[in-house]
Amino acid sequence: MKRFIGKIEKEHAIIEGEELTHLRNVLRLNVGDEVTVINGDGCDYLCQIIKIDKNIAFLSVKSKKNNKNNAKNNISLFISAIKREKLELVVQKAVELGIKNLFIFESQFSTMKLKGEKIIRYQKIIESATKQCERADFMKIRLISFSEMLERFAQHKVKLFANEREGEEFDFSVLKTAKDIAILVGCEGGFSAQEKAQILQTKPQNISLGNRILRAETAAILLSGIASLFSGN
Ligand code: SAM
Repeated sequence: MKRFIGKIEKEHAIIEGEELTHLRNVLRLNVGDEVTVINGDGCDYLCQIIKIDKNIAFLSVKSKKNNKNNAKNNISLFISAIKREKLELVVQKAVELGIKNLFIFESQFSTMKLKGEKIIRYQKIIESATKQCERADFMKIRLISFSEMLERFAQHKVKLFANEREGEEFDFSVLKTAKDIAILVGCEGGFSAQEKAQILQTKPQNISLGNRILRAETAAILLSGIASLFSGN
């Protein structure tokens, strides 16, 4: 069943914009065809196309069901700003791996400056990855400051701080019962000594991912995958 992002209004759904172009011009779907529409509320809406106009497709909602692929656990990934294309990869993989919240922040060694308008681009990547991996909830994404990151990170029950060179071996099987997990990864240059000291004050698990120094995006994706799989997300 082809998946589209649309608006749900009671018994009807509408599909517009790029989603409509894909439905009509790429997949060449027509009146009578059935598709799944999602709007980010976590449900799959089985719909039938009833009318396709120039700028809008109208569908009737046949049934609604909860989607089992949504993020079940509250897993937040905090990553310091890295190069644009690497960050885009992290956004896409975070959705696939069931991350609920992605927080991007600047730290002392970040070479990338955070710009609000990038959120629109990230939102598109989130929507596309959500359809691809058959989730029906949209991962939330926010740009935050280093101090807000510290505050939010500290609030999670299990805090995994990826700390190359100084981290310790961690028994990931303890995540089996975890429902509220935060993952923290630095940028290409890592964290400064002062930043590391501030992070350690939140009393995280100070984790090594092995002796090899991984790219920031590799560390973020690896730890997201481990946290998601071990916690049964
Ligand atoms: N500049 C740092 C250095 O050379 O020591 C490397 C930073 S690394 C490229 C980027 C981020 O990935 C780090 O801040 C850390 O969060 C994570 N990371 C990379 N390799 C890691 C490892 N072996 N164990 C734990 N975290 C790792």
